[in-house]
Amino acid sequence: MTAIATYRCPGCGRIWNADRLLWRCACGSHLNLTAGPGLERGEIVADDASLWRYAAALALRGPPHISLGEGWTPLVLREWCGVGVFFKLETQMPTGSFKDRGTAVMINHLLEVGVGPIHEDSSGNAGASIATYATAAGIPCRIYVPASAPRGKLVQIAVSGADVRAIPGSRQAVTEAALGASGESFYASHNWHPYFIEGTKTLAFELWEQLGFRTPDNILVPTGYGSNILGLERGFDELERCGEITARPRLFAVQAANCAAFAAAWEAGEDRFVPFAASSTVADGIATPKPVRIAEVLGAVRRSKGGVVAVGEEEIVPALTALGRLGLFVEPTAATAGAALTRLLGDATIGLDQTTVVVLTGSGLKAAEQVGELLGIAPGRSG
Ligand SMILES: [Zn+2]
Repeated sequence: MTAIATYRCPGCGRIWNADRLLWRCACGSHLNLTAGPGLERGEIVADDASLWRYAAALALRGPPHISLGEGWTPLVLREWCGVGVFFKLETQMPTGSFKDRGTAVMINHLLEVGVGPIHEDSSGNAGASIATYATAAGIPCRIYVPASAPRGKLVQIAVSGADVRAIPGSRQAVTEAALGASGESFYASHNWHPYFIEGTKTLAFELWEQLGFRTPDNILVPTGYGSNILGLERGFDELERCGEITARPRLFAVQAANCAAFAAAWEAGEDRFVPFAASSTVADGIATPKPVRIAEVLGAVRRSKGGVVAVGEEEIVPALTALGRLGLFVEPTAATAGAALTRLLGDATIGLDQTTVVVLTGSGLKAAEQVGELLGIAPGRSG
């Protein structure tokens, strides 16, 4: 465990101690945690089957106050287009999505600095994750969601006892409702708070350890705001600084072409927001019109020598089916990574002899009704 961690503001350069309730800088910019001490192999708590096996590398003052057993998810080898590929089953987190990594570490940080009631906005999975961990920690919680979010996600949030506010209109309207409430309770935003990325960095540690302390060549991640991309970069940075790795994986940020902020900037050669036309997508979890850390995410992808891949709706459904046939039941958002893998293997961006990991970010149980409609599965039929 470390001494007091610090935030650095990429907007004005100000340094803040991370010993207080803060979700952004006084100048309005988001904040980033400064580099941590990193992780050495010998610091892993090998008999802890959760992300807390890496507690030594987390910027917290002490052991966690609350855990639901998050992390240490399976990494399974399956065949895709005739090639062996590793799938990281973040679907098997306590609330069924990768968000629990970020949430668990963020909520424990908030408990350390003395948080009261919180609120958050989410298309569903982060809301379910934060509502669940808030109730487990005894923190009152209000979640703003799009009125159009899949019912399963809304039910999951409501079951925690959180106050659910359904907002009609765009995803951005939901964010604005949450921003407007930031005087009433603490805005525990997974998209803004730096500790969320402190949690997602454990994905890098797990992949490295599960592959026998080696880095893969490629990692494909469905990307809306980019917290997994930033977590992976942070985690691999720390391992490299500690001399545990020498090679770095290429990071591929996968988007739905119908709402692809990163792809628009990537194709324009920019590292800032570029206006683009958005329409609806079955990949509701990554339909992000305006990512908070756009420059950092694009920079991480560039430094890794990876890329941004935008897949069409017509590619997502076949990938969802193909994953299902491998025994991997995922929500449409997660299936985008399978669609991107098909593309990158097809054009030889990814070689047949390379080690590739596809991060399956959310369970199909989250969106069973929607998956049924997409795949034309009629209820109640037999034979
Ligand atoms: Zn600032």
